[in-house]
Amino acid sequence: MSGGRAGGAGVRSEPDGASDEPDGAAAVRREVRQWIAEHWDPGLSLAEWRALLADSGWACPSWPRAWCGRSLPGALGAVAAGELRRAVVPGPPEGLGMMLVAPVLLEHGSEGLKRRFIRATVTGQITWCQLFSEPGAGSDLAGIATRAERDGDEWLVTGQKVWSTGAATADFGLLLARSDPDVPKHLGLLLARSDPDVPKHRGITAFVLPMRQPGVLVRPLRQMNGHRSFNEVFFDAARVPDGHVIGEAGGGWTVARATLAHERRLAAFPAPPATAHGRAWREAIAERTAAAEPHKWYPQRAGRPDLAVPQAQALHRAADPVVRQEIARLIELAWSARWMAERAAAARAAGLPPGPEGSLGKLASSKIARQAARVHTLIAGASGMLAGPGSPLDGIIAEILVSVPGISIAGGTDEIQRNIIAERILGLPREPDISKDLPFRQVRAG
Ligand SMILES: Cc1cc2nc3c(=O)[nH]c(=O)nc-3n(C[C@H](O)[C@H](O)[C@H](O)COP(=O)(O)OP(=O)(O)OC[C@H]3O[C@@H](n4cnc5c(N)ncnc54)[C@H](O)[C@@H]3O)c2cc1C
Repeated sequence: MSGGRAGGAGVRSEPDGASDEPDGAAAVRREVRQWIAEHWDPGLSLAEWRALLADSGWACPSWPRAWCGRSLPGALGAVAAGELRRAVVPGPPEGLGMMLVAPVLLEHGSEGLKRRFIRATVTGQITWCQLFSEPGAGSDLAGIATRAERDGDEWLVTGQKVWSTGAATADFGLLLARSDPDVPKHLGLLLARSDPDVPKHRGITAFVLPMRQPGVLVRPLRQMNGHRSFNEVFFDAARVPDGHVIGEAGGGWTVARATLAHERRLAAFPAPPATAHGRAWREAIAERTAAAEPHKWYPQRAGRPDLAVPQAQALHRAADPVVRQEIARLIELAWSARWMAERAAAARAAGLPPGPEGSLGKLASSKIARQAARVHTLIAGASGMLAGPGSPLDGIIAEILVSVPGISIAGGTDEIQRNIIAERILGLPREPDISKDLPFRQVRAG
């Protein structure tokens, strides 16, 4: 079986496929079905099944053949992934490792890094967190001050990250650190070896940092909605092998930009199918439950527009003209965002380059969440603030109200999305950045 055959030109879809499927879809479907028929056994352990999947290339069909893939174009990769779902077999793990870290390693990692981490990520042997944001550097990521200093064939990392989702359980972190020792004066960290000619976007290096070591301390943060998804991560001469540098030392900004582009496409965890059964599925569901723990409030963060009409009816507010008007506004926003997402998906499937939909979609999701919170407040009134037994929807409405602000911040704030839309889509003049060409030590971070 080869992806070359699967992608053979001119093959039209089978009758059970959608009419607008790409050339080669029918052949891919046939190959995946045949492979599953020959290999799937619900009695396998998840590790055994994932190993087969990775070695066959059907785990990540659009990735290179050498790295658990089949080098298929995106549209045919989606067809293969759809076949796995249709056959109700577990796929690769969900979340950060697959959606963000592995693609970045494929683009920028050395052969050694790919060998060490790609298959282990695809088979779910290791988990990841993202170590970018710091107390003084979020939107302005180039202002990071965590330092990495060479020490023989290792790097020593010292500093602090914050907002690091899932860091309490992750095996490895995708880390950005300032490898040029030039750091801002106002932090009192100016070092003798400072190079006054290093602008802040240079001198940053991206690393794979082993989380389970004495130099790393993870402290969970309790949020205003009661959950503990975020962590502060402190590094005190944490050790990173030289081979764990992603790309070039000092070239981490390129890796950061690639990561942020993937971050805007991070998807929610889909529910496992109701017909899932067998050992591999039991283990996959347990893995998914643990991985989804930091994200279990994310539906509330999105505002739960699905609850607006049922709540208005249940609390007899559906005839109120103001409530009706605000619900209509919410539905209008949600539908326009859905159509935009579908347009973006169609463009991707057609092989077109990413358009403005990423930032527009991110901004739209913030607007929808805020409008949904407004509607829930109108419907529930002051009781919407109550949590615990007897409160509206057992505290879900209160959780929505205190979770919605997070969506305007995560993955780039609303203001940053507006800047991107203004500059890259509307072609307006760039926001002035007085620190752009300054050496980092002259930059006031935070
Ligand atoms: C749910 C969630 C999960 C997260 N997970 C992670 C994670 O796993 N790993 C990680 O590294 N980070 C994570 N983050 C952090 C997130 O990336 C940052 O919070 C975000 O980039 C904003 O940075 P900041 O909090 O430092 O705010 P700041 O950058 O300090 O912004 C403060 C305010 O100033 C505004 N602002 C800043 N710059 C501009 C500008 N140029 N123009 C106009 N307005 C501006 C912002 O919009 C904001 O309103 C997470 C955040 C959330 C909410």
